[in-house]
Amino acid sequence: MTRLLTSLFGLVLIALGLLHFAVLPYYDNKLNAVIAAESYPVPAAVHAFHEIAFVADMHADSLLWGRNLGKRQQRGHADLPRLRAGGIDLQVFSAVTQVPRGLNYDSNPADSDSLPLLFVAAWRSPATWFDPRHRALAQAEELYRLAETSALSLVLRRDDLFADGLKGLLALEGMQALGGREAALDELHAAGYRMMGLAHFSDNEIAGSAHGSKKYGLTALGRRLIPRMETLGITIDLAHASPAAFTDTLALARKPVVVSHGGVKGTCAGARNLSDDQLRAIAGNGGVVGIGYWKGAVCDASLAGITRAISYAISIAGINHVGLGSDFDGSIAAPFDATGLPRLTASLLAAGLSQDDVGKLLGGNFRRLLDANLLE
Ligand SMILES: [Zn+2]
Repeated sequence: MTRLLTSLFGLVLIALGLLHFAVLPYYDNKLNAVIAAESYPVPAAVHAFHEIAFVADMHADSLLWGRNLGKRQQRGHADLPRLRAGGIDLQVFSAVTQVPRGLNYDSNPADSDSLPLLFVAAWRSPATWFDPRHRALAQAEELYRLAETSALSLVLRRDDLFADGLKGLLALEGMQALGGREAALDELHAAGYRMMGLAHFSDNEIAGSAHGSKKYGLTALGRRLIPRMETLGITIDLAHASPAAFTDTLALARKPVVVSHGGVKGTCAGARNLSDDQLRAIAGNGGVVGIGYWKGAVCDASLAGITRAISYAISIAGINHVGLGSDFDGSIAAPFDATGLPRLTASLLAAGLSQDDVGKLLGGNFRRLLDANLLE
């Protein structure tokens, strides 16, 4: 009997080792690919401008994969050394807490969850294996630990925005992590969350998703939480929100909101990309739309495609309401990793935008918004 138990225990250890050292890196590498690098010249003067500019990225899922983000990794898109090399000053680290099986952009059930194996493979605590709230708390803890052991500083209040060096802001991708409990909002705020997407790929207790099966608007709980989030200094993120939830939220919001990562229908049709009316509504609210770097957002995932989407968004929403939302490490193929960002600056300048305007896009707009939303 003891022998049997010992062998079983050995087998479990071998399985956990295989998952951690082989299966997880394999999928991380495959799902977060870099498309064969486009060569794009970055003149020295552009490099210098990019270095000085405040550069902010409104969305990356790098926490999910359990990598050591303090070290430069060979896989995925972003870690601290690569963010620094890319001249990024502020990175939003988003916590993914539930992804339906058979993921698609059109319709996903609310109760499906493909993440247990990933959380087991990353050697996270059993509490995280099946529970979105614990997944959010664990990823917050991991970001705090990273900040303690590196030169990353966390943005929790307004002054933190103006600290030197690389800064990180913690965001939640979808409020299913609250489990339908109002009190969980305060708990997650206390854990460091300062930005929250209402929904991810499924409808939840707060709001419908653009990819949900019902796509409803804000629920009664959602309506109660919008002002509470604003009081706590939490920025509301409408990326992935259903069109009804988008409209309901803007009717209630008293503070500027973001659509952290996505595209515009004007250059790329798609369930989650913003219509011209939605772009105008965000501008009216004083908000900022982050343009992503992948096929579902811009159709043509190249510097030219991203530049086209940004230019289109500016033409409708105005220069003060557009920013960057890479979706690095969000199971997307990107045309460059975080180190390639100066190329985007070069491409935007080459498209005829002024340095002032590019400065707003790169991070000036998002910083203005956070400055208005964060508390003292
Ligand atoms: Zn997303």
